[in-house]
Amino acid sequence: MRFSSCYIPTLKETPAEAEVASHKLLLRAGMVRKLTSGVYIYLPLGLRAIDNVARVVREEMNAAGFQELLMPSVIPGDLWKETGRWEHYGKELLRFKDRNDRDYCLGPTHEEVITDLVRGEVRSYRQLPVRLYQIQSKFRDEIRPRFGLMRGREFVMKDGYSFDVDDAAADASYAIMYDAYMRIFQRLGLRFRAVEADTGSIGGNFSHEFMVLADTGEDTIAACTSCHYAANVERAEVVWKGTPCTTGCSPYEQVATPGAHSVEEVSAMLGVAPERVVKTMLFTVDGKHVAVLVRGDREVNDIKLKNLLKAQDVQLASGEVVEALTHAPVGFAGPVGLDVPIYADAELQGATDYVTGANAADAHLLHVDLARDAVVTAYADLRAITAADCCPRCGAPIELPKGIEVGHIFKLGTKYSDAMHAVFLDENGKERVMIMGCYGIGVSRVVAAAIEQNNDENGIIFPPQIAPVQCILLNLDPGKEDVSAKADEIHDLLEEQGVSVLLDDREERPGVKFKDADLIGAPMQLIVGGKGLARGIVECKDRRTGEKGELPLATLPEALAAWMETVRQGWQARMA
Ligand SMILES: [Zn+2]
Repeated sequence: MRFSSCYIPTLKETPAEAEVASHKLLLRAGMVRKLTSGVYIYLPLGLRAIDNVARVVREEMNAAGFQELLMPSVIPGDLWKETGRWEHYGKELLRFKDRNDRDYCLGPTHEEVITDLVRGEVRSYRQLPVRLYQIQSKFRDEIRPRFGLMRGREFVMKDGYSFDVDDAAADASYAIMYDAYMRIFQRLGLRFRAVEADTGSIGGNFSHEFMVLADTGEDTIAACTSCHYAANVERAEVVWKGTPCTTGCSPYEQVATPGAHSVEEVSAMLGVAPERVVKTMLFTVDGKHVAVLVRGDREVNDIKLKNLLKAQDVQLASGEVVEALTHAPVGFAGPVGLDVPIYADAELQGATDYVTGANAADAHLLHVDLARDAVVTAYADLRAITAADCCPRCGAPIELPKGIEVGHIFKLGTKYSDAMHAVFLDENGKERVMIMGCYGIGVSRVVAAAIEQNNDENGIIFPPQIAPVQCILLNLDPGKEDVSAKADEIHDLLEEQGVSVLLDDREERPGVKFKDADLIGAPMQLIVGGKGLARGIVECKDRRTGEKGELPLATLPEALAAWMETVRQGWQARMA
């Protein structure tokens, strides 16, 4: 490829609309352009990056025994009405009518379409498993599209689906996908974690999110520093390390704490450390009220509460509810005499000599012994994990890195096959419902996430597998015939070696070419100029490390191959 004949409209200035690195750099590097809110045109270089991700995904999906098909993006509303999602999906579903006034939607996901396909074709257990996937543009009408390809409304997604005879077979499909996803993200050269995700009402360990690690990520992961354990902080288990306190304490007494609502205010006023204060939070769970107790320096994890109570809806109780239950303004709730079910974090089991709210205005209690003075319905893991906690599997320290979700695998069970009556006859001729799984990768989002993870002040630093071009070749003296001839020769040599290359043959100053090369982010740069040729060398630069070197013209093919291998190995080593 030659820069002079390519459509690569790089920008010197960062467009004001862009907030995050990937959005800024994709615009500046001439890889995407906004058509309308959350909807982007993928320009040639951007499309090459997306295609590179799609190619790796496709190869690994095929190797895992999934077959590619392509479903329409226009979906009849009737299918979505069968599963109830037409009512429940909300405004993210873009709906419209055809000329005959029939309902349609633009597919954000394709469970209904694929279930409709399979139920019409599969009759016998002999035809299962069915394992299919597609790579396609999806549409989700986000309320606040932002961050460019990170949270667009239209995006390229790989969605795969499996249909199995029973739970064990469905688990096998799931395991195959888990392994394929591990290979995909390793091959793409990204630092990532497979993270146990919350499955909400379905339950069980049947959902993993694949997170690209990046400081700008919106999700926080609890990741072990030693073993493979990683979980979304929403579900990370907390193993309580302490021992119950059995010393006992004197009877509790009420003290005045005027105006002290928060743990910090109470702890300062009474001269007691926050970890000696019990925080009492009131929640409304499916319309009923409960209290949750955690140590003053901890936070309640309401997803754990929701799962513990097998609830649909968990909300912090309103101010009116708190006042009615505690006979005091918000900030003075406590477990003693509180007439609602009380759930306490496991860490508080055996807690004695704690400070709690007094259920009276401007008052707290000293010397509370939970077992003696309150009625606790159950102790359970109810708090959010912190960096001071340890791995629930191996006990090693954990860290809390930020991540960007790029993949999600999910054992669906019979949610769709039940609703849509996708059944088969087993070996005894008995009708049974198929067990489903679904497996997504945000293909265009992977490109954005790769940039969030790999960039510097000069531009993008693409991993070799994703880079739109692996090598950018700068001709510093396009006016000189011998330099241009050598640049052409190296260009052809690289293509012969199967290395994608962009030859910057533009009539531009070297400074402009260096800037664009860094911005576009090809992992390898080669620089050909009159001065170097006179010395019998071309210069090379590893975009990731910034390391520069010289390759002798005399043995160029071998020297080039060896240097490129070093660059690739550097990327691999970084993964470990
Ligand atoms: Zn561990």
